[in-house]
Amino acid sequence: MSPRIVAIDGPAAAGKGTLARRLAAHFGLPYLDTGLLYRAVGRRVLDAGADPADPGAAAAAARALRPADLERGDLRGPAADAAASAVASIPAVRAALLDFQRNFGRDHGAVLDGRDIGTVIFPDAPAKLYVTASVAERGRRRWAELVAKGVPADLATVTEEVRQRDAIDAARAAAPMRPADDAQLLDTTTLDADAAFARALELLAGRLPGRAE
Ligand code: C5P
Repeated sequence: MSPRIVAIDGPAAAGKGTLARRLAAHFGLPYLDTGLLYRAVGRRVLDAGADPADPGAAAAAARALRPADLERGDLRGPAADAAASAVASIPAVRAALLDFQRNFGRDHGAVLDGRDIGTVIFPDAPAKLYVTASVAERGRRRWAELVAKGVPADLATVTEEVRQRDAIDAARAAAPMRPADDAQLLDTTTLDADAAFARALELLAGRLPGRAE
């Protein structure tokens, strides 16, 4: 394994993606949003008219996944969120996506964000963050994203969807969402993107060999 792996895990809408992208640019590393893999699998199952909770249909979709699937424009939004979370609890889906994630970071290092990067995908990563925020704040952020895109959304409904998805992701038997024992916690409830980035750099100082930090 490359020693230059940054693993970023945490619940929905905690600010992982924005932070991971900035850290990748800062450290000169490629970035993988692993949630997109589960979203694309969920979409394939929906396209086939099947139930995302059906293990056979979901595993077949995971094995058929192609890079172009990650470029689709319909991977965000409540239906895609729920389908992703449903397929993600199926062990055969997780197994089918494992090698892709490991190969992505193996040779040159990478920043990856998701739910199980520090616990399952790269348990030996030298740099691990668990990024979280209060459910109220995460609901507000997800709601604001939808509104900014012109999607009509109700704050209480969106907050409840975020809460339910976290509960499913944390309770599942297969690679549940949880902080790795050696992850550093970053609570972004009161931090904007710049402050979260600055705090992340402090927490990760000295953890990645090579290149300027
Ligand atoms: O990060 P994002 O919200 O895009 O992830 C969508 C869903 O994919 C999550 O709710 C979770 O169920 C699943 N996921 C996962 N493991 C990952 C990344 C995402 O189970 N590493």
